[in-house]
Amino acid sequence: MTTTRALAAIDKRALWHPFTQQQGWCEEEPLIIDRAPGCTLYDTDGNAYLDGVSSLWCNVHGHTHPQIDRAVRAQLERVAHTTMLGLSHPGAIELAERLVRLAPPGLERVFYSDNGSTATEVALKMAFQYWRHRGMPQRNGFICLRDAYHGDTIGSVSVGGIDLFHACFGPLLFDTWQAEPGDAGDMAALLQQHSDQVAAVIVEPLVQGAAGILTHPDGYLADVRALCDEHDVLLIVDEVATGFGRTGTMFACEQENVAPDLMCVAKGLTGGYMPLAATLASERVYEAFLGEHEDLKTFFHGHTYTANPLACAAALATLDIFESERTLETLASKIDRFGELLDEFVAPLRCVGEVRRRGLMAGIALERFPLAARMGHQVTQAARRRGAIVRPLGDVVVLMPPLAMSEEELCHLVQITAASVAEATARPVLLAAA
Ligand SMILES: *Cc1c(COP(=O)(O)O)cnc(C)c1O
Repeated sequence: MTTTRALAAIDKRALWHPFTQQQGWCEEEPLIIDRAPGCTLYDTDGNAYLDGVSSLWCNVHGHTHPQIDRAVRAQLERVAHTTMLGLSHPGAIELAERLVRLAPPGLERVFYSDNGSTATEVALKMAFQYWRHRGMPQRNGFICLRDAYHGDTIGSVSVGGIDLFHACFGPLLFDTWQAEPGDAGDMAALLQQHSDQVAAVIVEPLVQGAAGILTHPDGYLADVRALCDEHDVLLIVDEVATGFGRTGTMFACEQENVAPDLMCVAKGLTGGYMPLAATLASERVYEAFLGEHEDLKTFFHGHTYTANPLACAAALATLDIFESERTLETLASKIDRFGELLDEFVAPLRCVGEVRRRGLMAGIALERFPLAARMGHQVTQAARRRGAIVRPLGDVVVLMPPLAMSEEELCHLVQITAASVAEATARPVLLAAA
């Protein structure tokens, strides 16, 4: 097998990593992951690391789960991929029915795609086209939240609000109205002023992940739903990060008894195994697209690997495990324990400004350091030396363990994080020579 050193050299020569300043990347040694039983990642040299970010917020039941492995292998014996354009397949059919059963009431149609960004694009385009079919094409704008994140494609970036990621692309984006996160009064004022031009409001429910685990006050989501009803505006809820148990319930919407008109799911849908996404739509939205061929009411959108059968098999097994391992029932005590651990080990640290949390998602906001100090990154590097993978969003250290992580592992993860924050922030801040 190629040695770690050789792999590292090729990585630096041939790869371009996502959300990564390659100049800095090439100055450090890459960690190359080889295998992962459960919630532990092993690198090519055999070192072990707790997966503290669920391999970017998507792993649910742990890696190499025998039941999901088996399901994917069984599907592989039949066929790896067939198209959904003009054909169907059993996995996509069964999964659609299961999703409709699990989703908030009224979401009765499943439109597949392959990642969170496309799930949002689909929702935006459906909302836009919906009002055209309803004879109100002037309802063509969107209200999103400041600091929102809905993906990296141009449409999903348009409804995003994280300047660091999005500002550069301004000239490529469509205009939106931005509401203050968590402030129902602000949403009410925007809708009051613009509702006859608004197709939909799009929100991440309960917590804005990429904003740095920004939590909304209780009742906010329900207020937004009521305001959308009042102004006859569609509500798109982006459950890409929060779906599949992340906040303690299968979907975050459930906690405020909210049923959106369109709901986006991706990340956890396949247990973190494969790229698969879905946009669930209400029958009201779906029916507006019905007509004769020549009416051109078709939703002209679709991706090659839409509803890939291997991914659908992984998703069905993931949902089965929620039942067989009673994942949501055992989650409540884990979430409590996670909170206690953060309160005990992380919150009291000097340089920790705030610990924000919803379910098994936590953001540890460090006090302000100069951008060039890359404090979040320093914490990540310190955690790595201690045997855990965490990833910062700027100076917010994010913990997003798989739902399957044991209480013992959670304890280890939080202690490593605390020690790493203490170590990194204790050092004098070294700034690169100006
Ligand atoms: C990650 C994420 C997305 C984008 O999903 P991708 O699969 O990375 O395209 C969209 N919305 C939210 C809330 C997310 O956290």
